[in-house]
Amino acid sequence: MRKPIIAGNWKMNKTAAECRELVTALAPKIEGAKCDVVICVPFTDVALAAELVKGTDIAVGAQNIAWADSGAFTGEISAAMLKEAGATYVIIGHSERRQYFGETDKSVNARLVQALKNGFTPIVCVGELLAERESGETEKVCRTQVVGAFDGISAADAAKVVIAYEPVWAIGTGKTATDEQANETIGYIRSVVKELYGAAVADGMRIQYGGSMNAKNVAGLMAQPEIDGGLIGGASLKPDDFAIIVNTAK
Ligand code: PEP
Repeated sequence: MRKPIIAGNWKMNKTAAECRELVTALAPKIEGAKCDVVICVPFTDVALAAELVKGTDIAVGAQNIAWADSGAFTGEISAAMLKEAGATYVIIGHSERRQYFGETDKSVNARLVQALKNGFTPIVCVGELLAERESGETEKVCRTQVVGAFDGISAADAAKVVIAYEPVWAIGTGKTATDEQANETIGYIRSVVKELYGAAVADGMRIQYGGSMNAKNVAGLMAQPEIDGGLIGGASLKPDDFAIIVNTAK
């Protein structure tokens, strides 16, 4: 049995004051959650969020991590900095990072190695563009991204990773993959993990769906056997909606 995991990706939203407001509103609504709950906040909110979630079931994540320990990497953030601030999860390779900031499978791999070396639970994002789905390349794209991300990573480390399958055309568009589309592609991704690491790692790996998941469509998506949770953007900024999503994931 895989324990579902619901992670909020706040993206570049919420100042510290707004973070306080959101976490304070959210925490009581998800008491006793039956899934793992994570909020991936902007770097400037990590320490505050970590303080605010003490005594709750919420964990804090970041949205990126540098591949180097320290040094001349302007604009990056190190594992040690995130760890000290209280993050335990980190999103790696989100499509917005790939699209706007030149993230590649190679850089995703380097960041993943660093996250694992430093004890984080990484959430690695993969997913196809609309044109790729329409030209029948969804599986090829997901395979390339998974194989690239996990290059050189041991089975023991791979088992600690969460994958988020996020069709790029469904992110922030209000256009969700159907329950069946999401289930099918996640099943395919699991088969790639099985090829790389065997059945035990594949069967134990949690693979989330992400892409306009919300309070209304969460039940259908979560009812699919391959879907182990969600990476939630827009709806994670609304405590009532995010709480419904969390409380539906059992
Ligand atoms: C995301 O940011 O990973 C995401 C899925 O966003 P949204 O839920 O807004 O589509």
